[in-house]
Amino acid sequence: MIDVIVAGGGPTGLMLAGELRLHGVHALVLEKETEPTAYVRALGLHMRSVEVMDQRGLLARFLALGQQYAAGGFFAGITKPWPDRLDTAHPYTLGIPQTTTERLLAEHATEVGVEIRRGRELVGLSQDEHGVTVELADGTQVRSRYLVGCDGGHSTVRKLLGVGFPGEPAKVETLLGEMEATEDPATVAAVVTEVRKTQLRFGAIPLGDGVYRVVAPAEGVAEDRTVPPTFEEFKQQLRAYAGTDFGVHSPRWLSRFGDATRLAERYRTGRVLLAGDAAHIHPPTGGQGLNLGIQDAFNLGWKLAAEVGGWAPRGLLDSYHTERHPVAVDVLDNTRAQMELLSLEPGPRSVRRLLSELMDFEEVNRYLIEKITGIGVRYDFGEGHELLGRRMRDVKLKRGRLYELMHGGRGLLLDQTARLSVAGWADRVDHVVDVSEELDVPAVLLRPDGHVAWVGGDQQGLLSRLPKWFGAAVG
Ligand SMILES: Cc1cc2nc3c(=O)[nH]c(=O)nc-3n(C[C@H](O)[C@H](O)[C@H](O)COP(=O)(O)OP(=O)(O)OC[C@H]3O[C@@H](n4cnc5c(N)ncnc54)[C@H](O)[C@@H]3O)c2cc1C
Repeated sequence: MIDVIVAGGGPTGLMLAGELRLHGVHALVLEKETEPTAYVRALGLHMRSVEVMDQRGLLARFLALGQQYAAGGFFAGITKPWPDRLDTAHPYTLGIPQTTTERLLAEHATEVGVEIRRGRELVGLSQDEHGVTVELADGTQVRSRYLVGCDGGHSTVRKLLGVGFPGEPAKVETLLGEMEATEDPATVAAVVTEVRKTQLRFGAIPLGDGVYRVVAPAEGVAEDRTVPPTFEEFKQQLRAYAGTDFGVHSPRWLSRFGDATRLAERYRTGRVLLAGDAAHIHPPTGGQGLNLGIQDAFNLGWKLAAEVGGWAPRGLLDSYHTERHPVAVDVLDNTRAQMELLSLEPGPRSVRRLLSELMDFEEVNRYLIEKITGIGVRYDFGEGHELLGRRMRDVKLKRGRLYELMHGGRGLLLDQTARLSVAGWADRVDHVVDVSEELDVPAVLLRPDGHVAWVGGDQQGLLSRLPKWFGAAVG
């Protein structure tokens, strides 16, 4: 039997399947589309996702195809310089189209042995105490021990489970597409600047060779957002807001997106879990959705692998919901706040001016950056050292870098005392005796997702934490 079926081969599903495979789990991705999409939604990776790629040895591929920039302006578009020192070895945003991210994650997943079957749409599921049976649109059935719905905002898996998806429906809709324009670039830029004084959902980003990524408010909210707008509808909305359609022609692709904000009530129902957009949707403000999905997958992968591998301590798989649901609550909240701040009504404009002043205080600026980029996430592991529950940044060691030692996705004890031991857990936890000038604690125990599970220097303290995350000692 297959260990885990991942429904949906978007960024979340591909990341998850790669993580599972690192632990030898037999993972199968079922993707309904026969070909990768050309439609570019996300434009970049935030710092935590960049770190995640580094922790798995994938960053070089992303850096080769992306563009690094240390830019402010991602919180409701309020532009402030970044503070000099951020708690990361990667203080930048990596501009990279979602289509490229998906291609790189698919390549990695395939390399490590994930099977990706395209043109396979999940339409039914049932579960019993031993596994899950998935029904496909072509009438075939596939059985596995677990199923993860990474099938996007309209998730069939979530609907079949009957998991509630409360929140707010879309109030506005935006058209998005890539197309060529005959108007000269300076005129396009000048008109866009003028329109944006009163309409922030309008824009035309030059992509080179006369091609633009164009956004414009739609006239209403479509019944079925999966149906793309017509090119005529797009041109009409450009004319309605700008008085010109810039002579656009030759569209590469056209789409629409709304501002619906919803969160799944639970991330686990027996042997079926939800991750990424299947679990949460919100407007793209701040560029967080893809990053959130990748980080869901990073949290879930090793836990589900532990369950499949038979060494998961009690409650480990449920900690996926306990840890990630609150993170999504926070992201939904900050996108709601950002949407208010984008309003051109006098009240929100005043709040925006006030927040802009507050962001001149470095701590406020830093707080918002850590929130949006995911490096500020701290799971509740109880009282303790300030590092406890946070992911640890990469640090230089005497012999290399911390993240270089995490490519295998195992737990890691970084021991600066050389007196500790992971005997009994050595099959799940690496013991690294080394020192770092950037780390002023005797030792840290890191989970496979890089979050700090223990800080200390005594063996008894370590022994009290190892079973919580890594199960019983063996041997
Ligand atoms: C305009 C726009 C801009 C955005 N910009 C950003 C940004 O800058 N940064 C950011 O982080 N996020 C951004 N996002 C959000 C980001 O695109 C999503 O959060 C991200 O795609 C979620 O990834 P996912 O894998 O969870 O879901 P998806 O990318 O939706 O992937 C789901 C996959 O499941 C497949 N599928 C669906 N149903 C089935 C089924 N029944 N059986 C099998 N397969 C199925 C689909 O074909 C799809 O391939 C943006 C979104 C939009 C709309």
